[in-house]
Parts: sequence; C-alpha cells; structure tokens
Amino acid sequence: MDERIVLLLALQGKDQQCSDLSARVEDLKVQRLRVERKRSEERATVDSLRQHLESMQRDSRLKNLSVDELDLKIRDYQKQLEHGIISFKEMEALRTKIANQRRRISDMEDDALLLMEEIEATAQRLEDAVVELAQREEKFAADCEEIDAQLARTSEEITRLEDERTGIAAAIPAHTLTRYEHLRTKFADPVVPFVDGSCFGCKLNVSEIVIERVRSDLEIVTCETCSRILYAP
Ligand SMILES: [Zn+2]
Repeated sequence: MDERIVLLLALQGKDQQCSDLSARVEDLKVQRLRVERKRSEERATVDSLRQHLESMQRDSRLKNLSVDELDLKIRDYQKQLEHGIISFKEMEALRTKIANQRRRISDMEDDALLLMEEIEATAQRLEDAVVELAQREEKFAADCEEIDAQLARTSEEITRLEDERTGIAAAIPAHTLTRYEHLRTKFADPVVPFVDGSCFGCKLNVSEIVIERVRSDLEIVTCETCSRILYAP
C-alpha cells in the first residue's frame, strides 16, 4: 500500500478517535449541567420550605401580639366597668364590647393554635428535608467530581491524540494533506477502500480504470462520485 495512504489512514484513525472523544466531552458537560440543575432544584425546594416556615412564624408572632392587644383592651374595659362612674347604658355597651372582644380572642387563639400545629409539622418537614439534602449534596458532589475526573482524562487523551496527529500530518505531502483536510470538512471518513467494485463511502460503482490506478500505488486516486480518497483493501 502507498505510504501516503498508510499515513492518511493513521491520520483518519486519530481524527475519528478525537471526534468520538469530543462527543464524549460534550456528553459529560451535559451530564454535569444536569447534576447542577438537579442540585439547584433540590436546594430551592428546601429554601422555599424554610421561607414558608419563617413566614408562618412571623404570622404567628403577629397573631399573638394582636391577642395581647385585645386582652389589654378587655382589661381596660373591665376596669372602667368596675371603677368608672358611667351610666347604665354605657355599662351595657362596655359589656357587649367585652363579650365581642372575648369571642374574637377565642377565634384568634383557635387560629393561632392551628398555625402552631402547622408550624411544628413544617419545622419537622424542613428538618427532614435538610438532612436528606445534606445526603444528596454528598451524592451531587461525588457525581460532579467523577464527571470532572472523566472530563480531565478525556481532555488529556484528546491532547495526546492531537499531538500524535500533528506528528503524522507532518509526514504527509502538503497537497495530499490539504486534499484530506478539505474532504474531512464533508466526511467523517475521507479515506475509504473500494469493496466489490464500489466506493465504501458513497456505495457507488468505481470504474475499472480507477481500480487499476488505485492498485498501481502510483498516485492518490479519488472516487469519481464522492471524491473520497480510495485505497485497495
Ligand atoms: Zn465514493
């Protein structure tokens, strides 16, 4: 086989390996993004549960303050009832006010109690979620580390292949290399054998004359249809 064909096949082998590894790099980057997205989502879920809890706690504090204020008002009304010099009509009005405020307090205390129960349940849920997230964070970190290690290994491998490729390319005559590079912009396999009288690239017939020229090993011969560089298998 023509020495140039041997070199071109070696070059093509390196190019195909590089292209496979580049696809692997892209795949790994997608995997990493997926892990990061999942991690962000799980962090956001815990954050939103924490915010929900904090908002309920604020709400609960405000409710308790309102109950205290109402309670003070009732005491004030009672003081007026006991010690104030007021008319019977005013006393009746005060008693009604006190009864109303007591009902409101009772309703508010029921609400506050329900809220406290919800706060306790949510606090427990948050605690569980935080523990679970901590475990998931370890898994996310381990996954990212593994992906990064694979990315580093793959990049090193690509650099090594590119160095080897440079060495091989340097041994190929310039015009042949240019032709190969041009074909490579169109095909993943610029150098193909003919099999059963057909070009292995485009699968179309190769003329007897072309086959003879390939076999003679005197020149670089290309497929008449797709222009790939041909060699005898
Ligand atoms: Zn062809």
